[in-house]
Amino acid sequence: MRSMVSFVLACAGFAAASVSGAAPVAELNVYSARHYPSDDALYDGFGKATGNQVNRVEASGDQLLARLRQEGRNSPADVLVVVDAGNLWLAERDGLFRPLRSAALEKAIPARLRHPDGLWFGFATRARVVVYNKDAVRAADAPKRYEDLAEARWKGKVCMRSSSSVYNLSLMASLIHHLGEEKAEDWARGLVANFARGPKGGDTDQIRAVATGECAVALANTYYAVRLMKSDKDADRAVAAKIGIVFPNQDDRGTHINISGAGLLAHAPHPENAVRFLEYLLGPEAQALFAVANNEYPVAPGVAAEPVLSSLGSFKTDDLGVHVLGANQARAQKVYDRAGFK
Ligand code: FE
Repeated sequence: MRSMVSFVLACAGFAAASVSGAAPVAELNVYSARHYPSDDALYDGFGKATGNQVNRVEASGDQLLARLRQEGRNSPADVLVVVDAGNLWLAERDGLFRPLRSAALEKAIPARLRHPDGLWFGFATRARVVVYNKDAVRAADAPKRYEDLAEARWKGKVCMRSSSSVYNLSLMASLIHHLGEEKAEDWARGLVANFARGPKGGDTDQIRAVATGECAVALANTYYAVRLMKSDKDADRAVAAKIGIVFPNQDDRGTHINISGAGLLAHAPHPENAVRFLEYLLGPEAQALFAVANNEYPVAPGVAAEPVLSSLGSFKTDDLGVHVLGANQARAQKVYDRAGFK
């Protein structure tokens, strides 16, 4: 009962979409770690298309997972929406999802971007790219592989956010898979030896530090760069103008990508509505909204990426199933710890 009360209170702060002029015939409760203004249109669209009243709780991935664990079988939540396969894996590990077979989802989403047993589904992707300062580094000399960032020529020139960032953990998880743990640790040691400063800030802070010349190279997810490129603030666009972007590992395994994803929760009170919502996320309307909402790559075939994101160019992606990234998460943090990457 307590959990229901806290759910209602938390919901009161959020706009709930409903069918205008008609009493809602059904409802859907979504816990979402995504909070972009244009996600409102997504929930409105689903509400209008299905007659569902959508109640949303928005918080960080960590907070939502803690809440779901605490609520247990009394949870009112139907669907969990998070970014990064690492967060999906944490929910999976704690038994928060229930397996779902959906021909529509399986058709729309490549197998490597969803859980093999249908515990969660990726609906948009992002790439982790090298960002470099165009004044300090010639395009031809920029790192071409993640591995290059550990080369001695980048000593004192690399900026990174903390190793506990799920983005960096997922990247390490992929390196463990591809290189083996020992080589992945060597890489992390080399990377740490090249730091321009201690790890701090988010991806946007790394891009800004590259633009000011505090460091020459860094890693960031594509949508952070595109957000600066599209910003209505002159200062942001000036930052974007200073940087070059490399999609790493084009001559071998491809660039590391990750997903925004969602799954049907184990104790969902409205599972049919939840399945409709997940299928709606893969429809053309929702996919187009994702494309503009957070400048992510839509996963459904035939939906165009946002033009500024597309202008970064097409690239070869690492085809490793993203579920592997989650499974290697704990090992990834240990490797970073041993390498002294805080
Ligand atoms: Fe992010």
